[in-house]
Amino acid sequence: TTLLSADDLYKTFGATQALAGASMSVAAGEVVAVMGPSGSGKSTMLHCLAGILRPDAGRVMYRDKELSAMSDGRRSALRRSEFGFVFQFGQLVPELTCLENVALPLRLDGVRRRDAEQRARDWLERLEIDDVTTKRPGEVSGGQGQRVAVARALVTGARVVFADEPTGALDSLNGERVMRLFTAAARENGAAVVLVTHEPRVAAYSDREIVVRDGRALDLERTR
Ligand code: ADP
Ligand code: ADP
Repeated sequence: TTLLSADDLYKTFGATQALAGASMSVAAGEVVAVMGPSGSGKSTMLHCLAGILRPDAGRVMYRDKELSAMSDGRRSALRRSEFGFVFQFGQLVPELTCLENVALPLRLDGVRRRDAEQRARDWLERLEIDDVTTKRPGEVSGGQGQRVAVARALVTGARVVFADEPTGALDSLNGERVMRLFTAAARENGAAVVLVTHEPRVAAYSDREIVVRDGRALDLERTR
């Protein structure tokens, strides 16, 4: 069953047409890789799907709700409670420890500090990076920092996880680790995972590939 879908999206930035009738969907428990040349509209589509950017035309549906028609306040509340995000360089808060970074979305949801930090600690252990607990993001390696960012995206039990080049700065071992975490989130928690990548090796972990060209999306059913 489809959890999130984009239907015929258009978006222009000044004279640049970033999306020109792009459509795609993702189901619960499914990992979808979005590929395509630089500048083809991948990030713009991801941001529209995630409710960060409003398309000029077309609809984004999350379950039975039209995300693209919601007020900014309702969209950000929904993002916080149902979506998780991982970007290339993690975007962790440099002043907080790794543990506090993972606990942060729970704290913003009103979870008490003790409970939030316990759940964050469980995730760090599960990702085998509990040795970074008291370190700040600037004191850990790239691979560790990216796993902290993945823990932060998954700790709230996100229904949809969005990732933009999540393995771009990682060596192949850490790239594989991160992809295994995403597939586990899909298989074990029933999350839908949408990830933008230009690496075929990373896309190979997905259930389905979407290729974006000139602001349009082509859905390639994988047969394996
Ligand atoms: P991709 O992720 O495939 O590299 P993007 O979605 O980032 O592509 O960009 C698609 C096109 O839209 C590009 O030509 C890009 O320069 C342009 N674009 C994207 N975001 C903006 C923005 N905020 N302002 C102006 N142009 C933008
Ligand atoms: P990973 O395989 O997780 O990327 P590395 O093999 O790169 O880890 O690093 C091994 C150890 O070196 C880590 O425990 C980390 O604490 C330390 N380290 C690596 N890179 C950095 C860095 N840029 N700043 C501080 N410590 C680092």
